[in-house]
Amino acid sequence: MFIDTGKLTIQPIHTTWLPKNISAAMLRLDTIHPVIQGNKWFKLKENIAAMQAAGQTLLLTFGGPYSNHIAATAAACQALDIRSIGVIRGEAPNEWSNTLIQAKAAGMQLEFVSRRTYREKENIDWAAQFPGAYIVPEGGNNALGVKGSEDILLHSDSTAFTHILAAVGTGTTLAGLVNAAQANQCVWGYSALKGSEGMEQAVAAYIHNHETPWKIWHDVSEGYGKTSQALFDQMNDFYWQTGIPTDIVYTGKLLLAWQRQLAAGVFPGGSNILVVHTGGLQGNLSLPPNVLDF
Ligand SMILES: *Cc1c(COP(=O)(O)O)cnc(C)c1O
Repeated sequence: MFIDTGKLTIQPIHTTWLPKNISAAMLRLDTIHPVIQGNKWFKLKENIAAMQAAGQTLLLTFGGPYSNHIAATAAACQALDIRSIGVIRGEAPNEWSNTLIQAKAAGMQLEFVSRRTYREKENIDWAAQFPGAYIVPEGGNNALGVKGSEDILLHSDSTAFTHILAAVGTGTTLAGLVNAAQANQCVWGYSALKGSEGMEQAVAAYIHNHETPWKIWHDVSEGYGKTSQALFDQMNDFYWQTGIPTDIVYTGKLLLAWQRQLAAGVFPGGSNILVVHTGGLQGNLSLPPNVLDF
């Protein structure tokens, strides 16, 4: 198997800014594969299984030019010898992102569409244009994506943690974590988007464990993909203190928000916090060199 869940470990976190009466660890989903890493594999695996069970051999999905989901899907389909099509938001750029270059090199057929068409993608019959295609929504956001995400906590014992934290894009991963968590654990999501208030309803539709409390923090990101020096400083500091690299879109912002919450006393003494590293490291390649120390 090209995914190494043996590398999926819980790493204790010791930093200067972690209060003495709080303990924390990181669930390393970023280590399972260089590209098919983090939550993306978990969201894909049940979709790929369903596609194969249906005898389909072409997978079509969607994403922006820096999408971790596009990168992971292209690499997973290459490894499994599945034909893949990526419908990419926006006209083909003059200069391709590393994500697009790698996806194409992995054999993914890229179909660039206007932003307007992309917004309408849910109303378009893609299987008519690409016969036989199995459609995976943007970000792997469907019931099978949630089902796969329920396995994230399966590979290690996380029952002793009081809080489980994860970055949120569509909330698919969060829903899976909630479904798999214990009733006495809190699952908190940190939205990487701006103006994502109200997404709870869509996430709740995927949650069948009604005992575990959960919530999404929204005032975390200056905007999807927007970066700042404070973000880079925090990511570099975390790397030097723990050896763990994070990404600029999701996990770095989660860290920044978490550190602010710790300083503000949001977590009661005695909390034992598991931070899920959802991967996404390929996205850092869009930065100029030397911004990050890793
Ligand atoms: C895609 C992604 C997320 C968001 O996952 P959702 O299931 O869409 O909420 C979080 N972290 C990283 C690193 C990602 O690539």
